Amino acid sequence: MLSTITSGAVYGVQSHLVEVEVDVSQGLPCFQIVGLPGSEVREARERVKVALRNVGVKLPPLCINVNLSPADLPKNGTMFDLPVAVGIMTALGKLSPETVEGTLFLGELGLSGELKPVKGVLPIAREAAARGIRKCLLPVENAWEGELVRGMESIGAANVQEAVAQLRGEASEKAGGTARRSGEEAPPPAADNDLDFSDINGQQTLKRAAEVAAAGFHNLLIIGAPGSGKTMLARRIPSILPPLSLEESLEVSTIYSICGLLQSAGSLKTTRPFLHPHHTITGRALAGGGRIPTPGVISLAHRGVLFLDELPEFKRETLDILRQPLEDRQVQIARSTGSYTYPADFMLVGAMNPCPCGFYPDREKCRCTPYEVKRYLSRVSGPILDRMDICVEALPMRFSDIAAGGKEESSEKVRERVMGARERQNARFAGTRLHFNADMDAGDVERYCRLGEKELRYMERMFSRMQLSARAYHRILKVARTVADLAGSEEIAEIHLAEAICYRQSDHKYWQ
Ligand SMILES: [Zn+2]
Repeated sequence: MLSTITSGAVYGVQSHLVEVEVDVSQGLPCFQIVGLPGSEVREARERVKVALRNVGVKLPPLCINVNLSPADLPKNGTMFDLPVAVGIMTALGKLSPETVEGTLFLGELGLSGELKPVKGVLPIAREAAARGIRKCLLPVENAWEGELVRGMESIGAANVQEAVAQLRGEASEKAGGTARRSGEEAPPPAADNDLDFSDINGQQTLKRAAEVAAAGFHNLLIIGAPGSGKTMLARRIPSILPPLSLEESLEVSTIYSICGLLQSAGSLKTTRPFLHPHHTITGRALAGGGRIPTPGVISLAHRGVLFLDELPEFKRETLDILRQPLEDRQVQIARSTGSYTYPADFMLVGAMNPCPCGFYPDREKCRCTPYEVKRYLSRVSGPILDRMDICVEALPMRFSDIAAGGKEESSEKVRERVMGARERQNARFAGTRLHFNADMDAGDVERYCRLGEKELRYMERMFSRMQLSARAYHRILKVARTVADLAGSEEIAEIHLAEAICYRQSDHKYWQ
């Protein structure tokens, strides 16, 4: 007898429904799985056989054929254990076909029949809902991921017996299994973290630069001596970022779900991610990789912040990996099984000393030779530097700053202004692919950053004085757009342009 069970697979960040067809027929006893199964999927045979036996379902000596359709899509992971087991029980007549119809099944089986959590449930459940499926049966630990999907009834089961009882409608409260209907709701505002802008004494220029960067999602480079508060500031940037919108939250949660990191979170990701890899990180860990590529750090930082402290300490090859994602806002990984694309739209925040000892250009303290300084700075390649919209210096602490402690503006205050600028951008970019000012390309800059006569003449003077490239010119306009948004101004005025130009002067000072 033949049975068909609905399941799903994730390929990159794309999810697909997979029909698990199980045929049980007379013949030499066999058990095979076809339809491009990966090694974990092939091993499902052993887990399913033992798990069913241990819950009292003995497989008769029959020929069992399992086909995973569409057959041309590679299948990986352990989520097919439960659908295969349910398919066999249905084909053997132990479950009626009506009870399994229209339900999505995902789950790994342990040998004693317990259901274990799997990765990628959220995107698969969303895909299923889009295809009209209204019910899913999942391991208890994953059940809440199904609940996040609008119009989906999510049932969690701890083991095969519970799953079967749920399907037969026998489940009592005590037998376990939780069926709840839920919908996609706006995530609550970002949770407070303990780090606050008011912890930073003085450093007004630095804080302002971080505010502009956060408001327009601009990449930010901070240069300064050790102890000037670069890292302290960078770690506090998430506290002034606008919260994730529902759409963004689902995007980010999908990536975490694929990596199996959502279960530990226990809910949708509502705060913008902040990733802080050490400088010894490999290119593969950064960009994502493996035989079946998993998202790397830059994808986990999607819609959030990637903070690279001690930027010149990173290997040049590692930094160069960032070039393509910084431009395309996604990363492509080619494998023999195909090309995988993961989103990687992050705000890059870099911090660095200006020289090996850290005190250049203070010649009283810095012992480095000009050659050493130049070599150190050149470790940050031109193309990476080029993608930094805002470059700012952290000046050494002054006594008056420290003495004036306790009167600093809180993150909440700064965030209010950032949110105001965010709303202006939302209104401007409604219905376009753009989210923030930083997303604009050259064409968008022409459309959204029109200058008046006076401002044009000002930029003309600056263009020749600073010997700007076309790319640098566009970056200044984008940052000026954000400065104007923060000021609540529809027009970009000279004062906004002047502030944006200030954010390019440090890289001129050090690199030219
Ligand atoms: Zn030095």
